[in-house]
Order: sequence, then structure tokens, then C-alpha cells
Amino acid sequence: MLQQRTLKSLTKAVGVGLHSGQRVELTLRPAAPDTGIVFRRVDLPQPVDIPISAQAVTDTRLASTISSGSAKVHTVEHLMSACAGLGIDNLYVDITAEEVPILDGSASAFVFLLQSAGIELQAAPKRFIRVLKPVEVREGQGDNLKWARLEPYHGYKLSFEIDFAHRVVNSTGQRVAFDLGSGSYVRDIARARTFGFTKDVEMMRANGLSLGGGLDNAVVMDDYRVLNTDGLRYDDEFVKHKMLDAMGDLYVLGKPLLAAYSAFRSGHALNNKLLRELLSQPDAYEVVTFDDEKSAPQGFATLARAW
Ligand SMILES: [Zn+2]
Repeated sequence: MLQQRTLKSLTKAVGVGLHSGQRVELTLRPAAPDTGIVFRRVDLPQPVDIPISAQAVTDTRLASTISSGSAKVHTVEHLMSACAGLGIDNLYVDITAEEVPILDGSASAFVFLLQSAGIELQAAPKRFIRVLKPVEVREGQGDNLKWARLEPYHGYKLSFEIDFAHRVVNSTGQRVAFDLGSGSYVRDIARARTFGFTKDVEMMRANGLSLGGGLDNAVVMDDYRVLNTDGLRYDDEFVKHKMLDAMGDLYVLGKPLLAAYSAFRSGHALNNKLLRELLSQPDAYEVVTFDDEKSAPQGFATLARAW
């Protein structure tokens, strides 16, 4: 049986929120089978649980925000991406502020935390959402066109294209493809950092955003060049970060997809709209498990070493 996964022990990190600049403590804890991933605001007078789901995503400006009543957690996507990449099904995420710490701006710090805590196999079958027919969402026209699509595929592969009219981004790849069956999330995707442009950062700061952002947790560019003295981590780090984000955005389903995802200029909002479109069509998907690991698609049985 292909089993669900959680952590072996708890692990903690302290950092700042990218947008709030607030200090925040994060504790990742094991959770029982079928719990899913549950964020818990432990700083509120009465702790509030926010289980992730496509419907829990209530704001997608700049980052993905989940909420339950008035309790919110911003910027969940990089941690969710790490959980997708390592195949974590069940997890409690205790948090002391309303934003997940940005750490190094990629998913690799979360991957490190999760792997350090150890990954435990659980006595329950891992559930997948298998896409049965194409589902697509589109917005805009001409230069503003963006779209995202899911199609049936026995496995999980993604292709993403961005279209930034900026000389630095243009000189790197604006398109990337990744297949979990043949690639390595940890090696190929997880290290890609978020990025921004100095002119936008100035405008965001004036509006009280991006207060925790800087060269130690983002790739920052002016009109001509990358300002980080160490340069880029991947030749195509920009589009790879968009794919990292998409993997986090899609994992709010709470179950891994068996599908081919493709997207052009998509972002948190459109990715979430795609999930809601999928869920609104009951004949477009089914939930499946694998009694025999060997019948599971390539990549999933070896998502991350469990020890
Ligand atoms: Zn991101």
C-alpha cells in the first residue's frame, strides 16, 4: 500500500514575514492519518485551526492567504510547495503571527526542516485526486492573456511559462517543465527564490507591504541587473520559482494530483480558480489509492526518504 506521510518528530523555525516584517515562530508537528495539513494560530487568545482546502484560500494578492473566520495565515505557498514535493499528507503548522516566515525566500529551508524532523509512513492509504478530463481557466486577452489547465496523466507533471518584459528575466528561460517521475523536486525546484523589482518594492513598502523582504530572501532586480552579489541559484530561477509557487497553490487541495498541469502567466489567484473549477465538476476527478506501490505512478513511492 502506498501510505500517507507525516513527520516523526516536531521541528521549529523562527523568521520574519515577507510582507508584515513581523517576527514569527513556526512549529511543524506530526498529525494522525487523514488529518490533512492544518495551520493553527497559537498567538490568538483562543487558538484557531485553519485546515487547508481550495475554499480556505481567501486572498491571493501577492501571496496565498488562508482563513477561518477572522483568523488568517498569509504566504502559505512555499511551505505548501515543500509539503507537495516531499509528499507530506498530515501536518500541524503552529504559527505565532499571521504570516509564514519567508526564511530564504524559497522552499528549501522548509524541505530541510521537514527532512530533519524525519518522515513517517502511516497506516492509511495515501489518497490522490486523479483528473479525468481537461479543466481550464482563462483570463484576459492579448497581452493580458493568462491561463492554467489540468489534463489526465498517470503521474504528476507541470509546465509553466512566464512572460516578463525585463532584460534580466528575458535572458533566462521563461519556460520550464518538471515531471515528478523523472525529476527531483528538492534538487530542481525547491531552491528557486521569490523575486522582485526595486521599483515595485519601493511602491509596496510605501503601502506597508514587503517589509521583511530583502536580498537575503529574494532575488531583487533593478532595471538592468540582479542586485544579489551571489547571482542566481538556477539559470532559470525566475520561472522555476513560479512553478514552486504553483505546486504549493495546487497542494491546498490537500491531496496530490494525478494530472498534467500547464500554465501561461498564471499566479496564485488563477491557480486557485483552477482548483475550484475542477472541484465544481464532479465528473472531472476521482479520489484513488494504490494497494500496490508498484502500480503507483513513478515518483510517488520515492517522494522523499522516510526514516
Ligand atoms: Zn513564491
